[in-house]
Amino acid sequence: MNSKFRYKNPKKFNRKDSATKKMARNRIDPDVFFSNESKSFQELSKKDVNKSYSFRARIEEIKQTSGPTVFTLYDASSTIKATAFVSAGKRAFPELQIGDIISTNASVSERDSSIEIEMKKAFRLEGEKKNSYLKRLETVVDAKSKPVDRPFLIKSDTLDKLRPEMMRIAAAVRKAIFENRPIILRHHADCDGYSGAFALEQAILPLIKEQHGDESAQWHYFTRSPSKAPFYEYTDVVRDLSFTIENMARFGQKAPLVLLVDNGSTEEDLLSIRKLRIYDVEVCVVDHHYPGEVKNGKVLVDDYVKHHVNPYKIGSDMNLCAGILATELARMINDDMEKLSYIPALAATGDRSKGEEIDKYFQISEKMGFTREYLKDLAECIDFEAHYIRFMESRGLVADILGKDLDRQKKIVSLLIDDIKAKKAQVLEVTKHYAQLEELSDRIILKLDADKVTSRGDYPAIGKTVGMTHDHFKEQKAKPVISLGLGPDFVTIRVSDGLDININSIVKELKHELPNAAIDGGGHEHAGTVKFMEAAKDEVLQNLFAKLKK
Ligand code: MN
Repeated sequence: MNSKFRYKNPKKFNRKDSATKKMARNRIDPDVFFSNESKSFQELSKKDVNKSYSFRARIEEIKQTSGPTVFTLYDASSTIKATAFVSAGKRAFPELQIGDIISTNASVSERDSSIEIEMKKAFRLEGEKKNSYLKRLETVVDAKSKPVDRPFLIKSDTLDKLRPEMMRIAAAVRKAIFENRPIILRHHADCDGYSGAFALEQAILPLIKEQHGDESAQWHYFTRSPSKAPFYEYTDVVRDLSFTIENMARFGQKAPLVLLVDNGSTEEDLLSIRKLRIYDVEVCVVDHHYPGEVKNGKVLVDDYVKHHVNPYKIGSDMNLCAGILATELARMINDDMEKLSYIPALAATGDRSKGEEIDKYFQISEKMGFTREYLKDLAECIDFEAHYIRFMESRGLVADILGKDLDRQKKIVSLLIDDIKAKKAQVLEVTKHYAQLEELSDRIILKLDADKVTSRGDYPAIGKTVGMTHDHFKEQKAKPVISLGLGPDFVTIRVSDGLDININSIVKELKHELPNAAIDGGGHEHAGTVKFMEAAKDEVLQNLFAKLKK
């Protein structure tokens, strides 16, 4: 079936195929020969079924089925599935490889209501023809990769400073889509992380559909996964790479672009990010967690990621949360995102962001009919749902509760919210009773025994439990409160405004002071976790309390 071989040995050809004969006799370039009517993949419709055309395209992927060989072809307008059959399970056109530019004569067919083509003949283009085609593809991809350049939803100096890097991520995402590169979106599994991921997903999926002219492409070229920890855990990267390596080996899929949202900025993300780099996987980060010391506008992870948006890098703080940044980024990726203008306010509600900019986002959401009360309930429901979704993608469930279908969202909120409130009220009764309060001159230290005020696996988990207990006492007491959820090998911490405490710095200090305790953790300045080895618990708590009481 080698095309060159056939071309040079006219005797091998089927005599009845007069066109082929003619080509062989006249030594006609097969590419010129295939000049019967031509269409782009995007132009094909059901009306073309059973008609034959000639196409030029690049081979993107090859999959051998138990029946035909299935090629994914790309011609700058769209990808298409192209089947070729010699006998069951046997590779057709074995001389053709991924990345080849081919000229093919194929008939149009329909399968599962998608348009496909069936390759009758196919030749690899070489030399000048190949190069000029590659150049054309590159020009098209570059043109399509240009992000949408438009104002942010609100006026903000901070956002303006972040704009150049955001535009670079938008371009990288669009480029991945238009060069048929899969995208893996990883996000923190809380309301903020889900909000940002949802906005990006809604921006990306329609473009993938457009690029491939096919509904099913959204499952092949895009995955979103929640991460339980507020960083890209090693278990997450193992999972992502396992699928990636398999897809690359089995189908010749390209190395994915990994987008980290509400994750990715910190030292704790580094190992996983560096593991991806070994496989040539590019990483873009949209985060607002404290990224460590900023030197010349750069932080630790910047040496390993392609682009990194984080307000700390330009001297700001965590208030412009990941859901806000990601929604603004989504608007640079796709120009049809107005429906999701309430997402920043939702994310800010979840992460309790404050400030002038946040108020402007609330004005936008209010105009769209989302009251602050409703957003609070919705954020609770998202956290509740996230607790049970765990590590699943659950694209449909997530899209509905985040607002793809607003009617359904309202139904879900009104179904869940009373239950959630009842559960939380019950837990608060417990924690109010069993919390130990230590009153100091300028602050109150509140301690909860994590194992004794939560039920394993149930909602709310310890972080949330400490958070709501903290809120309750913060309201009641005149002095600022530091709340601690004490576990066997961790302490969850919440700190009232007005106290000069940074949990990330405490983690750093403890690491230095207690090298035997295997200290880890972090988070935000006033909300985070210190992790340690259980054997070191007493020492860690002693040192930690000393710092919190200062
Ligand atoms: Mn966040």
